[in-house]
Amino acid sequence: MLDFSFTEEQEMIRRMVRDFGQKELAPGYAARVKAGSVPPEMIKKIADLGLMGLNIPEQYEGQMKDAVTTGVILEELARHADDAAYLVFNNYAQANFVVLGNDDLKREWLPAMARGRKIVLMAATEAEAGSDLANLKTIARKDGDYYILNGEKNRVTFLQQGHAATVLARTDPSSRRLTPFLVPLDLPGVTRAPIADLGTESTGGGIMSLEDVRLPGKYRLGDEEGKGFYAAMRTFDCVRAFGALESLAKADVTLQETLDYARQRVQFNRPIARFQGVSFRLAEAATRIELGRWLCYRVLWLKDKGLPHSKEAAMVKWWCPKTAFDIIHECLLIHGHYGYSKDLPIEQRLRDAILPEIGDGTAEIMKSIIVREILGREYLDF
Ligand SMILES: Cc1cc2nc3c(=O)[nH]c(=O)nc-3n(C[C@H](O)[C@H](O)[C@H](O)COP(=O)(O)OP(=O)(O)OC[C@H]3O[C@@H](n4cnc5c(N)ncnc54)[C@H](O)[C@@H]3O)c2cc1C
Repeated sequence: MLDFSFTEEQEMIRRMVRDFGQKELAPGYAARVKAGSVPPEMIKKIADLGLMGLNIPEQYEGQMKDAVTTGVILEELARHADDAAYLVFNNYAQANFVVLGNDDLKREWLPAMARGRKIVLMAATEAEAGSDLANLKTIARKDGDYYILNGEKNRVTFLQQGHAATVLARTDPSSRRLTPFLVPLDLPGVTRAPIADLGTESTGGGIMSLEDVRLPGKYRLGDEEGKGFYAAMRTFDCVRAFGALESLAKADVTLQETLDYARQRVQFNRPIARFQGVSFRLAEAATRIELGRWLCYRVLWLKDKGLPHSKEAAMVKWWCPKTAFDIIHECLLIHGHYGYSKDLPIEQRLRDAILPEIGDGTAEIMKSIIVREILGREYLDF
């Protein structure tokens, strides 16, 4: 049976996060972007609301939520500040890896993640391994009870303020199988260098080098070498829908501001909203947001029902960020030269909107997943 409504609890959570976003997150976003980081007090406030433990089991101090409720939370965060949404999104993605660790590791890291005291990052991408992750060169060589890691990860978000990274490495140079390790960033041999980002600058990305890093065996994620990555990736389809919903939330908040602007901006003796050249663009934007948003929630609903959703997740992951970018761009143009100014938040949102078009898989990789599902793997050209 179809039911497009949210539960009372979900509506209550939406109001709570919206209120927090308006009062606490939005006002300081520009200052955080300038500073290039999110202050620990802000991360603590986000964690105190229970938003850092959305997929962390209660025994590790998390506050497990279903996928639809998590979508509601991320959508509301993204309306107010891209960095806060990214922080919660990233924490969710990394918790999917850390839960694959042994009991010791989970006891040490999961409560700290849920309380916002430790930030774990994703360190997968390398110079020769972006879309083609299987081509990565980082090696984890077994040495008694330890692994010795060597390699370089050249695009790690939040690197400047993180505490550990999920590092993808190869334990057997002749195999394409990848193994994730949790690598504390204070270990000897780990160094970090910043990257100057185009958008969402407060999430301070960087390059992480690993030189003869001696890592105790308990930091391997997954029961066996070569297993953890595939186990974690099975949980990742819904993460794609979270990113898509966040994109549309930024487009929607920009659209709402543009509706107000178009009502009050007078040219040729009438509000510009009276020109169909303007109002039809707004009508199209509202239509596209509505279309994309409900497909995102369908993905999350499928996830909560335990039904397959890879194809639908890939659809929203390519379409929504592109659509959001186009809508924010249209809204900027409707604001004329004011939209181009740094005094309005639109230029920042336009730059922020590019990130999800690339991160966690480009449009072409998502379309390849859809091709695989609707035509078959033999129709892929790689
Ligand atoms: C802001 C930002 C934050 C990021 N954060 C992280 C992070 O925290 N941790 C991390 O590990 N990575 C991170 N990434 C890296 C991200 O996951 C990669 O950028 C992404 O996977 C694409 O890889 P690439 O940039 O090397 O592009 P490439 O793989 O080199 O692709 C370049 C172009 O070629 C196209 N292409 C590649 N292969 C194919 C194909 N088979 N068919 C058709 N077209 C193809 C792509 O679609 C793209 O347009 C981040 C990226 C960005 C932009």
